[in-house]
Amino acid sequence: MTLLVTGTIGIDTIHTPSAKAEKVMGGSCSYFAAAASLQTPVRIVAAVGGDWPEEHRTTLSGFKNICLEGLEERPESKTFAWGGRYHENMNDRETLFTELGVLEEAPPAIPDAYRDSQYIFLANTHPAVQLQLLSHFPEAKLAVADSMDLWINIARDELLTLFQKLDGLVINDSEAEQLTEINNAISAGRKILEMGPSFVVVKKGAHGAILVHKDGVATLPAYPAEHHQVVDPTGAGDSFAGGMMGYIASTGKTDFRSIQTALAWGTVTASFTLESFGLDTLARLTKEQIDARMREFQAAARVGSR
Ligand code: AMP
Repeated sequence: MTLLVTGTIGIDTIHTPSAKAEKVMGGSCSYFAAAASLQTPVRIVAAVGGDWPEEHRTTLSGFKNICLEGLEERPESKTFAWGGRYHENMNDRETLFTELGVLEEAPPAIPDAYRDSQYIFLANTHPAVQLQLLSHFPEAKLAVADSMDLWINIARDELLTLFQKLDGLVINDSEAEQLTEINNAISAGRKILEMGPSFVVVKKGAHGAILVHKDGVATLPAYPAEHHQVVDPTGAGDSFAGGMMGYIASTGKTDFRSIQTALAWGTVTASFTLESFGLDTLARLTKEQIDARMREFQAAARVGSR
């Protein structure tokens, strides 16, 4: 089934305790699309500026399941750019800078060929852009969005309007707390359900994720990555959402249990993203490698009853 994503395509600068990487291929849309494309074809709606590095285009074009027809190149504009620094635990990070560039301009156009998209993911970007895009898909089977502290701070009203039109929301635990002023992921999730969506996924970084759904609650651990495997966690959240939505779009199932399984696919996909900077690991990944890690993850999470 057809999956469409809108979000940022960015140029990242990343500091980890042991390395610094500049002009890394980043952005919420890029990570999401790369991750989802391992499960199902993905359509991108995004904009970049004249400074977008040629090698990033080559990287994105290398994913055979990603359609770039909705990628708008604006030669006079600047690409979205973001810098972040990770703390020693490689879980917490601070934003060093955000240059909105094309995000301050008109949203990218939606190609006519994309109008029949059934599964819509509004990756992290300005909620006004998310709302505008979603308005073109009133018949969509499932609309899910991600957001971030920046938008909760500067565009809260648009965000709350968006929530009323969503089926699902994916959000970090700290952002869930920021939104609801409740510092318990499940209670915060339930509060967000009152704002519109029928399910909320609260991500807890290296500590897994919680699904709060109108039909139940499920918790999932993260894939147990060892210290040396974690090179750069940037994009793990977007890859998680990509793996999750890719599975949902490929099966067409949206009940509680299926979304719970989708969270496991998201977890496993994200575990590959943090093994390199940018999209490097996802670009090399095969379906067999993901399937094998999924079996390992299921085995590690299984418990006996006595
Ligand atoms: P994640 O680690 O999954 O939260 O995603 C990090 C990616 O999101 C980076 O590649 C950034 O380019 C991008 N990003 C950072 N801040 C924002 C923002 N405010 N809106 C949209 N995308 C962002």
